Amino acid sequence: MAQIAQVLVDVPTMQTNRPYSYQIPIAWQSQVQPGMRVVVPFGRGKRRVQGFVLSCDDVSNFEGDLKPIDAVVDLAPVLNTEALALTEWLAASTFSFQITCAQTMLPAVMRAKYEKQLRTTATTPTEIQATLFGGKSMVAFDDVATTPALVSQLLQLQAMGQVDVYYQVKNQARRKTQTAVKAILTNEQLQTAETSVRAGATQQLAVLRGLITLNGETIPQKEFCARFGVNDGAIRTAAQKGWLEKVAVEVYRDPYATSDIQATKALRLNDEQQVAVDQITKAVDQAATTFLLEGVTGSGKTEVYLQSMAAALAQGKTALMLVPEISLTPQMVQRVKGRFGKAVAVLHSGLSSGEKYDEWRRIQRGEAQVVVGARSAVFAPLKNLGLIVMDEEHESTYKQDDAPRYHARQVALWRSRYHHCPVVLGSATPSLETRARAEKGVYQRLLLADRVNQRPLPKVSIIDMKKEMQQHAESNFSAPLLVALQDRLERHEQSVLMLNRRGYSSFVLCRDCGFVLKCPNCDISLTLHMDTHTMKCHYCGHEEAIPRSCPNCHSRQIRYYGTGTEKVEEELQELLPDAHIIRMDNDTTRKKGAHAKLLAQFGSGEADILIGTQMIAKGLDFPNVTLVGVLNADTALGLPDFRASERTFQLLTQVSGRAGRAEKSGHVYIQTFNPDHYAIRFAQHHDYEGFFKYEMQMRHRGGYPPYYFTVQITASDLDEGVAAKRMYQLLQWLRPRLAPSTILLGPTPKPIARVNRRYYYQIVIKYKQEPNLASTLTTLLHETQAQQRQGLQIGIDVEPLHFM
Ligand code: ADP
Ligand code: ZN
Ligand code: ZN
Repeated sequence: MAQIAQVLVDVPTMQTNRPYSYQIPIAWQSQVQPGMRVVVPFGRGKRRVQGFVLSCDDVSNFEGDLKPIDAVVDLAPVLNTEALALTEWLAASTFSFQITCAQTMLPAVMRAKYEKQLRTTATTPTEIQATLFGGKSMVAFDDVATTPALVSQLLQLQAMGQVDVYYQVKNQARRKTQTAVKAILTNEQLQTAETSVRAGATQQLAVLRGLITLNGETIPQKEFCARFGVNDGAIRTAAQKGWLEKVAVEVYRDPYATSDIQATKALRLNDEQQVAVDQITKAVDQAATTFLLEGVTGSGKTEVYLQSMAAALAQGKTALMLVPEISLTPQMVQRVKGRFGKAVAVLHSGLSSGEKYDEWRRIQRGEAQVVVGARSAVFAPLKNLGLIVMDEEHESTYKQDDAPRYHARQVALWRSRYHHCPVVLGSATPSLETRARAEKGVYQRLLLADRVNQRPLPKVSIIDMKKEMQQHAESNFSAPLLVALQDRLERHEQSVLMLNRRGYSSFVLCRDCGFVLKCPNCDISLTLHMDTHTMKCHYCGHEEAIPRSCPNCHSRQIRYYGTGTEKVEEELQELLPDAHIIRMDNDTTRKKGAHAKLLAQFGSGEADILIGTQMIAKGLDFPNVTLVGVLNADTALGLPDFRASERTFQLLTQVSGRAGRAEKSGHVYIQTFNPDHYAIRFAQHHDYEGFFKYEMQMRHRGGYPPYYFTVQITASDLDEGVAAKRMYQLLQWLRPRLAPSTILLGPTPKPIARVNRRYYYQIVIKYKQEPNLASTLTTLLHETQAQQRQGLQIGIDVEPLHFM
């Protein structure tokens, strides 16, 4: 029996990845398990802290002086063996604390101080339950679990499946249960029973046949009665005869209960889709192969995902599908639910914490075999994974901004190795890193080169806004785009307009020649700093005055750039008074479900034009959309980030893909001040390969990923001097520890240097091979905790996706 538990304790600002040993009280020795949370005394005072049990060791005749565990927080492990191993890897690879990683994997209600309830699940209470629950079905966890003797009994009951812990979420309806039926006899015994029933007892026979059909499955009594045409009386009789038992099952908060989702059948695949599904399916039970499914917009990637997932399920495995942000892609959830029905659990930030917790438990109990979710769903406690799909793998929402700063792709790859199952990374515009790995053969590339049913990709026209500006007064709409919009109104077709708000007003642009001021050292756009009235490079620190005239063409039309969606909508309504317009931006989609509602309205034809920020670029599949307009293609280009071109290309390709998806062909208009920029040119010709080759050369020349690896270290403090000083010290500290070939950039103030009254400074480490990196950054992580206590915050970000 295990006498000692290794516990990872949670002591803010004194974290360590080394567990502490605690004695397990004798009464619980066979019951405390790795993955449970416990309360332990810590330090010399009477401090009580929570921790995760990492392992239980059998140390007979232990003669030390260990403190005992005070209490248990869980009756069963909340992290399984896989999750525990994953925390360890995650902490090491993201330079964060293991306790933070462990907590990240749990639903929020389990992390916070929610009141916990204990409830009995048995129909015939035993003596123990009678004493524990005193005749009630639910008691407060803390009333019982503070007495060691009772805890031991509770753990026993939990192991037998007779009690359950439930988190009571405030302001939320109580957990609901309903009566369900479950066969007690085996199918064989039921068949025997059938022969003993007289032929006229139709109700009894129907019950028996129903139970045989269900083959051991538990279903709500109501559903049973409806499905097999029996009444409640027949169920009662069957229970008395010992054929079935009535049990209480939970009614989950189903976030999609109200939306009626249509069931869909597998489509007949085209040749390219079939090859992809075959390759993926072959790997399901075989190997941790990573596939890059590169398919143009509308090529039917989703159908490939769905059929590959179905193949995994057919082999008795589970499937995980990651999407960038579910609230932005309600159509995707509908498609997955339409195919897999009740087997699907959905996890994303738009759910209430109660809903999320319910979905999480359905997964943990094996009641859901398919999970669709955003970033953190990558931790979904699915057992026996057969396939992981990551749609739009290039999206930066897959990277978490706070510690642990993980990328869901890395976690997915780790889990695929753990389960020996394939990963499918899907995109029309793969990230350069992923595409480069496919080039090297690290990932296996699957190509869908054409749209389904040979539909053409939309024609793309580039509109030079410099010329437009000379001919017309300042407007957000060029003449050709307006004509096209009018034309769609007359033909009763729909249009989608995108106003890119990323990089809004942070750089200056010449409206006569499209010139954007760049750093002479880094070839990265300079950022406008209104506080210091300068243009700064936040890679190398170069600084210069805000230009009064364009250095390129001497025009005085150089100014910062940007306008709001609301203003654009007003302008459009004036220009097209008869058009029905729906606006989608942060303001109109703040309320829960608003996004899906607006999309549904647009889908049902209630509006002619959908105008929105980049949130409309993803996943929309509306057959009547034949026109897409991009009002300002340049804002993302001006971002001070070496990925600016990549992001622009991706965004333009994605939004273009919304046009002409059905019978009617589509047309795209891209308004830009930089009509000759390569990102825009390649997007015009739907030429991902061309863009990839060109951009790889640019990265090679600049020494950026995927040729170099990067780590970003930031310091922030309320006092700018403190943050800056710390970063200069850090630079001195880092230099001798790292290889001479490693490049250190900075320290520089971040482009948005002041956020929430804090000042941010950063150092960027670029390297090809750096044997000392892991040990150096681990040391840094531990050493900076002391400074953290004084208010200085240090962040380590491996492969950062944003330099802002
Ligand atoms: P992608 O995700 O690659 O942009 P989708 O999966 O959204 O493409 O597919 C585009 C459209 O084509 C969808 O309406 C989908 O239902 C349809 N589709 C996909 N595969 C097939 C197929 N094999 N036969 C007919 N229609 C298909
Ligand atoms: Zn100019
Ligand atoms: Zn620079």
